[in-house]
Amino acid sequence: MKTHIGRILWGAFALVSLLVFSACDERTADHVFVNGSIMTMSEVEPVVEAFAVAGDWIIDVGDEEEIRSAYPGAEVVNFGGKTVMPGIIESHGHMLNLGRIAMRVDLQGVYDPQEVVRRLRDRVAETPAGDWIEGWGWDDGAWREQMTAISEELSSVSPDNPVWLAGLHGYNGWANANALELAEITSQTPDPEGGQILRDPTTGAPTGILANAAIGLVTRLVPPLTIKQRERAFEIAGEELLRNGLTSVHDANIFREDLQALRSLEAQNKLGVRYYAMLSCTDEELIEPYLTNGPEIDPDHWLTVRSIKVFQDGSLGTRSALMLEPYSDAPDVVGVSTTSQEELEELAVRSLRAGMQVATHAIGDRSNRITLDAYEAALRAVPEATDHRFRIEHAQVMALEDIPRFNELGVISSMQPVHATSDMPWAEDRVGPERIRGAYAWRSFLDAGVRVPLNSDFPAETLNPFYGMYAAETRQTPDGHPEGGWYPEQCLTREEVLNGYLTEGAYAAFEEDLKGKIAPGMLADFIVISDDIRSIPSEDLLGIKVEQTYVGGKLVYDSH
Ligand SMILES: [Zn+2]
Repeated sequence: MKTHIGRILWGAFALVSLLVFSACDERTADHVFVNGSIMTMSEVEPVVEAFAVAGDWIIDVGDEEEIRSAYPGAEVVNFGGKTVMPGIIESHGHMLNLGRIAMRVDLQGVYDPQEVVRRLRDRVAETPAGDWIEGWGWDDGAWREQMTAISEELSSVSPDNPVWLAGLHGYNGWANANALELAEITSQTPDPEGGQILRDPTTGAPTGILANAAIGLVTRLVPPLTIKQRERAFEIAGEELLRNGLTSVHDANIFREDLQALRSLEAQNKLGVRYYAMLSCTDEELIEPYLTNGPEIDPDHWLTVRSIKVFQDGSLGTRSALMLEPYSDAPDVVGVSTTSQEELEELAVRSLRAGMQVATHAIGDRSNRITLDAYEAALRAVPEATDHRFRIEHAQVMALEDIPRFNELGVISSMQPVHATSDMPWAEDRVGPERIRGAYAWRSFLDAGVRVPLNSDFPAETLNPFYGMYAAETRQTPDGHPEGGWYPEQCLTREEVLNGYLTEGAYAAFEEDLKGKIAPGMLADFIVISDDIRSIPSEDLLGIKVEQTYVGGKLVYDSH
């Protein structure tokens, strides 16, 4: 029922858009963009010289002559012969985490003790008394003694703020005197199991360094981010995306406080990039209204809520991905399931009825099978929901016979090229020489007719989309290893890669009529880049610079 109402509304909206566009044709464009080598991603006219923009929308494309003379009153922007392409879609990332990392005091690569003191002092100066300050990146492998030596000095520059400076490798961190006091850590406090409170050998007083399980004594006290802090984190993340040519993001785990922060930013016109929100299924209060009333499609296309994110298993590296057979390097381990097939099926049925998409994190072959089984049962229960676009996020290790099921069921396989090149040093140890053939198997998915949006899962991996494109084409690390590529039969072509980052990314959010192309009726989201992405060799993808980013026809990032 809800689905039908959703469709009618959607149809009405499409009709209104159509009327607006025809009106646009009558009036003049605001801008004409000319003298570009413009990659449109359209089958007709794959390359054009110029296009016209009215408001947020592209209204016309063509030869420079033609466009200039059709819109004589419009302001002219000259691309100077540069390559222009549609804004890239990051179809799986985590904005809050990205912004949060950028908000921490950055100590990566700092090996001058006085520089650490300086950076903390600067941060204290701009932080209200009582607020926590977090930092990250001092080398806890090599630098514990140096941190201990400046411990008192660091505490003395931060008397009124609790401070936690996490180590680069995550095994150690440093807490200031204020934080130790809040955690009630004194010379009398025993070491927790599996952890260590480092102490002064003469006085026995804690030095501030906490190792392994002792880290939790302090980090559990760090309060969750306020809405204002979340807004700041999203804003910072948005700027980072625009610098990298990404104009839209599918945020892959949104909680209610995040949505509140995003709505506030939207009201201030400060989102930066366009969001497609995947709500965390663990936040029941958040998802309940959407499972009843259906999606919220933003008519301005800044913040659309249409998807629910579920975790079915863990990760391959930690052997928590759920496998059909035990791990090759741990014969007693098969991984863990975090959502049962019954729960997933029930959620999928409700989502189908409401017109919501389900996106399930599944890494292991058993996890993927459970998810496909749950989706299949739900689709049988709600046969009228034909355009569901259910997704599996990662689909990392597949039983080969399950790959065609994605196509049969219309399930999208959302994949991360850089995961393959990051994981290849140990992935085969985990699954062995047979199962590895179904791992990171983009080509097998495409050959089976499956839709495969490509993305990064930042901040776990770099969000630079050109690195992802390079990894998808070469299956090599940026320094060219291994020669010829890792299981090179899975390499993709340039055309497939561009599709994965543009057309398929748009499709995975029901937005193929809005994004991923430079064509009339599309949002005017596009980027100017340093190289001709249609013709350069794979290794040159790594050197592409984003020179300008436009969202809704407005210049929002300029490298010059
Ligand atoms: Zn993720």
